[in-house]
Amino acid sequence: MTHKQFGNKYIVRVAKGEELVKALKDFCRENDIKLGVISGLGAADKITLGLFKTKTKEYSPKEFLGDFELTSVLGNISRMNGEIYLHLHATISDEACQAFGGHLTSAVISGTFEGVIEKIDGEIGRKYNEDIGLNLYDF
Ligand code: FE
Repeated sequence: MTHKQFGNKYIVRVAKGEELVKALKDFCRENDIKLGVISGLGAADKITLGLFKTKTKEYSPKEFLGDFELTSVLGNISRMNGEIYLHLHATISDEACQAFGGHLTSAVISGTFEGVIEKIDGEIGRKYNEDIGLNLYDF
């Protein structure tokens, strides 16, 4: 992953073969980004999207193999238990330009990923909410 910084914004590129979520997390750790937003687009060929099922409080993951556009990746950066915590969603599209979307846990880049990470000066943690079953912002 390479980047160029302009003030509190980082223009980033993730290379072919890199796993996007890990690359973004490592980047945030290395650049001391504790709070912020991520947006980007690209192409990937091994993607895991999920849906959080509110009744069972579990994610149902689905893997997509083959050529897909990452038509939109959107997310936020916060902290939990002293570690970087990314919350990412993505929309992907196939050869028929049909789209699938969900909570993004993994995407192996097949072409490129071009993103912007905006660092916000501050820190927000997360706490597991028993009722909902998710790690919510803890203000
Ligand atoms: Fe989510």
